[in-house]
Amino acid sequence: MNIAVDGPAGAGKSTIARLAAKELGFIYVDTGAMYRAIALYLLDNDTDINDEAALKSALDNININIVYENNVQHVFLNLQDVSTEIRSEKVGKMASTSSALAPVRAKLLDLQRDIAAKNDVIMDGRDIGTNILPNAELKIYLTASVDVRAERRYKELQLHGENPDLEEIKKGIEQRDYQDMNRDIAPLKQAEDAVYLDTSDMDIPEVVDKIIQLKKEAE
Ligand code: C5P
Repeated sequence: MNIAVDGPAGAGKSTIARLAAKELGFIYVDTGAMYRAIALYLLDNDTDINDEAALKSALDNININIVYENNVQHVFLNLQDVSTEIRSEKVGKMASTSSALAPVRAKLLDLQRDIAAKNDVIMDGRDIGTNILPNAELKIYLTASVDVRAERRYKELQLHGENPDLEEIKKGIEQRDYQDMNRDIAPLKQAEDAVYLDTSDMDIPEVVDKIIQLKKEAE
């Protein structure tokens, strides 16, 4: 069975999908992490992403592997585990820019479909229900207001000992939403057959329970 979870940055997709996957015995696939791994390579190698040949040669040198240890996804970039490094704001921003490019999306399409074909998965991203897994048995569009998403991110960064600026976080989220929703290829949008779930006033266990219930209904 395939469950597709799409939605904007900071909607809590990964937290929710990870917990739901655990409860269902499914594999959780974080496709954003794959785009982030590519972005990390492009940043580390100062790749000019507007130069078609340079981008192609960079992508040819990139090998992304997904390995599951105790059901936790690890992302390997050319045999190096980059699961932690890819979480920075800088990499997230670059991922949002580079993911708009056709060759970058093409590189990850088969990898994502292949994992879903072989496993029961909850896959989260931006174009899973609309493009990667159009036949997923269950599609969810998970969102929350910009203010709530910014607040959640703010608290998360504080927990990690950082001293974030709420307004700046909000601006970053709005910019990422805009880029992801307005690109030409596979923009973020709700699939016609997706269940819309606004989590602004829901806590994490409530959302997970809702997904488990929807999964039972979709069986
Ligand atoms: O979800 P996450 O914030 O890790 O994703 C980073 C970026 O990767 C997103 O802003 C988006 O531009 C891109 N992405 C995408 N398609 C996906 C998953 C992520 O374009 N399926």
